[in-house]
Amino acid sequence: MTALEDIQVTVLKGVGNSLAEKLARLGIHSLQDLLFHLPHRYEDRTRVIPMGSLRVGDVGVVEGEVVKNDVVMGRRRSMQVTLRDETGFLVLRFFHFNAAQKSQLAVGARVRCYGEVRAGRAGYEIYHPEYDVNPEPMVTQDSATLTPVYPLTEGIQQPRVRSLCRQALTYLQRYPIRELLPSTILTDYQLPDISAAVALVHAPPASANVPQLVAGKHPAQQRLVMEELLAHQLSLLQVRQQIQQRQALALLPQGDLAERFIENLPFSLTGAQRQVLADIRQDLSQPLPMLRLVQGDVGSGKTVVAALSALQAISSGAQVALMAPTEILAEQHYTSFCQWLEPLGIQTAWLSGKVKGKARTEALARVASGEAAIAIGTHALFQQDVLFDRLALVIVDEQHRFGVHQRLALREKGVAGTMAPHQLIMTATPIPRTLAMSAYADLDTSVIDELPPGRKPIETIAVPDSRRDDVIERVRQACEQGRQAYWVCTLIEESEALQCQAAEVTEQELRERLPGLRVGLVHGRLKATDKAAVMASFKSGELDLLVATTVIEVGVDVPNASLIIIENPERLGLAQLHQLRGRVGRGHEASYCVLMYHPPLSQNGKARLQVLRDSQDGFVIAEKDLEIRGPGEVLGTRQTGLMQFRLAEFERDKAWIEVVRELAPGVLADAGRTEGLVRRWLGQRTQYGDV
Ligand code: ADP
Ligand code: MG
Repeated sequence: MTALEDIQVTVLKGVGNSLAEKLARLGIHSLQDLLFHLPHRYEDRTRVIPMGSLRVGDVGVVEGEVVKNDVVMGRRRSMQVTLRDETGFLVLRFFHFNAAQKSQLAVGARVRCYGEVRAGRAGYEIYHPEYDVNPEPMVTQDSATLTPVYPLTEGIQQPRVRSLCRQALTYLQRYPIRELLPSTILTDYQLPDISAAVALVHAPPASANVPQLVAGKHPAQQRLVMEELLAHQLSLLQVRQQIQQRQALALLPQGDLAERFIENLPFSLTGAQRQVLADIRQDLSQPLPMLRLVQGDVGSGKTVVAALSALQAISSGAQVALMAPTEILAEQHYTSFCQWLEPLGIQTAWLSGKVKGKARTEALARVASGEAAIAIGTHALFQQDVLFDRLALVIVDEQHRFGVHQRLALREKGVAGTMAPHQLIMTATPIPRTLAMSAYADLDTSVIDELPPGRKPIETIAVPDSRRDDVIERVRQACEQGRQAYWVCTLIEESEALQCQAAEVTEQELRERLPGLRVGLVHGRLKATDKAAVMASFKSGELDLLVATTVIEVGVDVPNASLIIIENPERLGLAQLHQLRGRVGRGHEASYCVLMYHPPLSQNGKARLQVLRDSQDGFVIAEKDLEIRGPGEVLGTRQTGLMQFRLAEFERDKAWIEVVRELAPGVLADAGRTEGLVRRWLGQRTQYGDV
């Protein structure tokens, strides 16, 4: 029997080779693909909004008579057309216009326009609306329908996609879409069946509830949202299942390495560290690959947990790979691990992108022979030529800096063909529960929910950059009292070069203004050895003040540093600011974070800085960040591939996430359904699911 997924788009009128190629770029090959190319929003052109009831942010149709048309000067020259209806006024503003438009929109003309209302100079305004002069009367209200808006690619316009989808809908009668949700789910949650839902979202009937549709809350949309979230969840569970079909070395430690390590520590472990270690030890002793995410706020002591996990592998005669996202962080781990492990007679190898030539050959040989029990580095660790003798545990620190693909590629480095290494993933970005449930469905989670004792809270203040002199004075005082300070330069531009330049200028300025202080500079463009040297002298107290770019965001640990100045914090996300702030508050001194912003701050900007002043709890901050900026930002941009939904929106639809998580294991048991759902929603985007 033919199905919709077997019918190619070329059966549609007007689809030749060239259009088919463009559609392919959107992942559309079959009619089913086309019908799952869903509108991501609607335009409501069904009715005219009375001007008197407009509010900022409204998007819609307005109709009235031109009562004024002026060209006004101001910061930019513009044509300002005032419209009136029975209820009020509205201004249309054009920054680009020609003489023909000016005479077309002359006083007395009747204009119907469509656009977004904003608060402008002359009251409510629409900039560059779409408009019709002396339009045909509107279709009557009851037959008017919402206009779907589709994601596009180069060379395909909205009307084209709309008409193709309408054509494809005519096939639905004969070739309904396969229903992949179990009927119990459909009845329990009162969801419409798949073909009805798809038909409705492409062509909402006039009777459909317009506000619901516009808000994405119509049952037809919600059914698709739920199916999409389920498909994503299933794809991650599939990955997990595939990994766990392989075996792992059961790591059963011999001897007393762990005990000796703990004895040598200058502190005792916190209860939370012990608890998380217990989870990890339990996993590692099984012949099944561990897949565990450890979340612990900045400063919660994840490194020690990593070291003790590594010791379990090493004392079972196996090897460990520890990967960190930046050179600075990897280097810092390398230093700590050498210090900790050398006394125990354990050898460590250093492999970063910058290790070349003979040093690299040597390191590779020590890893390959098993002489080095642990290899530490950046993602250079996972290059083809890095071979281990008996790798059994992979630890990834600050995982949010790596992409999902990189994370999932790690397991390829397992021992022999059928064996997979255990994976321990650590992150300081507290991930809100719902987000963790969807983005990390393939991992078990442990949380280090306690900071080491004796930490003083960090006092956070926000000051405008007009008080730069006071801030510099404050740095001087802190350093003269023997403290150390960070000065973090940020820039909007993604350009690393510009960031580094800004940091260089600031360093110069601070050197001149703080002649008594020893000032260092670290940024991404320094050579690895130079960077390491600067970090080392800051750590050992030879430098008082470290001027840095956001390269120090993750993991850098200098307990004597108790003051951090962050320039232009309004440009950074909350989670990132929280990370940066976490560079201080690591010792016993009271610590301070000065957020030096550039006024004026937007409403939103003020609220964001306030969150940071009010809370030091990474989870609270992450929840706010998620609300304000969405999941892509919280997880880091590289993760977004995973979170790019067609229809689902994280905040709006988060109630489904819990539901989906409960339902997924049951559906997973049905391989056919699972395959179908994953293919339907993720299509070719599931490379990371291939084992
Ligand atoms: P993060 O979780 O941010 O990676 P680190 O592992 O860098 O934190 O630890 C932060 C600091 O706390 C380090 O100086 C570390 O030595 C110290 N530390 C870790 N565990 C404890 C503990 N149980 N008691 C006291 N200090 C600790
Ligand atoms: Mg760390």
